[in-house]
Amino acid sequence: MATAAAIVPAAGRGLRMGEGPAKQYRLLGGRPVLWHTLARLQASPRIGRIIAAIHGDDQERFGSISSDPFLDKLQAPVLGGSTRSESVRAGLEALAGEEIVLVHDAVRPWVSTDLIERVAAVAEEHGAAVPALPVTETIKVVDGGRVLESPDRSRLFRAQTPQGFRRSLLDAAFRSPAPGPQPTDEASMLERAGIPVHVVPGEEANVKITHPEDLRVAAEVRTGIGYDVHPFAAGRPLVLGGVAIRSDRGLLGHSDADVLTHAVIDALLGAAGLGDIGRLFPDDDPEYEGISSLVLLARVRDRLRAVAAEVVNVDAVVMAQAPKLAPHAGAMAEALAGALGIDPGRISVKATTTERLGFVGRQEGMAAQAVASVRL
Ligand code: MG
Repeated sequence: MATAAAIVPAAGRGLRMGEGPAKQYRLLGGRPVLWHTLARLQASPRIGRIIAAIHGDDQERFGSISSDPFLDKLQAPVLGGSTRSESVRAGLEALAGEEIVLVHDAVRPWVSTDLIERVAAVAEEHGAAVPALPVTETIKVVDGGRVLESPDRSRLFRAQTPQGFRRSLLDAAFRSPAPGPQPTDEASMLERAGIPVHVVPGEEANVKITHPEDLRVAAEVRTGIGYDVHPFAAGRPLVLGGVAIRSDRGLLGHSDADVLTHAVIDALLGAAGLGDIGRLFPDDDPEYEGISSLVLLARVRDRLRAVAAEVVNVDAVVMAQAPKLAPHAGAMAEALAGALGIDPGRISVKATTTERLGFVGRQEGMAAQAVASVRL
């Protein structure tokens, strides 16, 4: 079993992703997409060396990835060219002696060790290997907005990476490129040169991140929990979920003692890993005396935005023996959603008694629980 080297062309600017850094540097679960891709290659026992071809403007970004001691198979990067072929060629020139070379897209971070091994093994045996999957949708050949034909789907496959080659064959294809349009993968260069390329089954999970939606699907969803209790006190207003409710007593606390909003805040902060309400808004800070908890919730919204955390949903329950809260649940959800700047359909508020049991049942106070999910 020959050791393989991996070349990762990562110099593209990814115009389809819109504003912001190139797609290989967008964050996925808190780390750049490219880090995940390199980590998968690093984890493959078949791969001995990894080289990335990067854009000159990305040297600092790449440096923050390559400094990870886990990526110890990673060589110093080469500067890529304006086309994929130029980048792969630059990587190839910087590699000496490898018998098997795999070329892998920078934006396929879910490649498996198994696929890497299968591609490398077929490349070693037959010279050139490409992972591919059958086409499941009907393909149309279109010109000027009109369908020209629908080719036979049974012969069509979607090519993925890593594509594997015996070094000598890839070198030859680069030395004397066959005429034709700019190749979009390395296998097509060998095909044009008349070199047989063998197909190995690809993997559906080996997705190429192309559009912003691909990252949205990939985003991590995290969950947090919040719980809060406040005692009743005569002469205090009762505010729950930002809604003032007629009652002969309210809840006691430093702020408006909105027990429901406090539980929601703690659930959101917990989900996003941002601490808890006591740390953010200390109850001995005069700034928060009597403050509306919806104002605090709006500040939490800003904190969430600062870490690109998007609220997926909140589910909350208020425990109170009296007054009856169910008729106000819709208004509470709307007020909470308003402060968070999200659709009220993403917030659910429920109320329950505790069947006269415990401190809630004895009407000494109220409790609230909330669960929140955020997409990072
Ligand atoms: Mg509280």
